[in-house]
Amino acid sequence: MSLHAAYDPDNIFAKIIRGEMPCVKVYEDDDILSFMDIFPQTEGHCLVIPKAAGATNLLDAPAEMLGTVIAGTQRIARAVAASLKPDGVRIAQFNGAPAGQTVYHLHFHILPVYEGRAVAAHENAGPAATGELKALAEKIRAAL
Ligand code: 5GP
Repeated sequence: MSLHAAYDPDNIFAKIIRGEMPCVKVYEDDDILSFMDIFPQTEGHCLVIPKAAGATNLLDAPAEMLGTVIAGTQRIARAVAASLKPDGVRIAQFNGAPAGQTVYHLHFHILPVYEGRAVAAHENAGPAATGELKALAEKIRAAL
């Protein structure tokens, strides 16, 4: 999808926000939702999204929304670091299909990185078992 495509209210993350599709939730408030990525590139890979519809990516998001989402991303990344004890944390964000974006609702990736353990390539990771994702989400939540 183009960098400047219109927002599709039926994208998968919009359905998750509306409760039409399930997710393994890490955190939710009035403005943001964080949940486990179902194709994790590393153990503990989670996503942070604004709950408001409309922004497909970082370029078309209002600055205020970005501020809220990035502050939430920092908070959840801190909880990921405290609970899962990775050696590093990667924050990733893609804009437009050629850049690697596959879901067109603004989101930030939080990827805990562990020394000696590979990070699967974006768009090339296998699905995770829901039970494992729930256990990881519980650990992260406990550190929020
Ligand atoms: P993007 O490629 O747009 O930067 O990231 C989209 C992310 O959403 C990918 O890492 C992908 O694994 C994840 N994803 C795609 N569909 C679903 C879904 O239905 N549920 C969850 N939890 N993650 C999804």
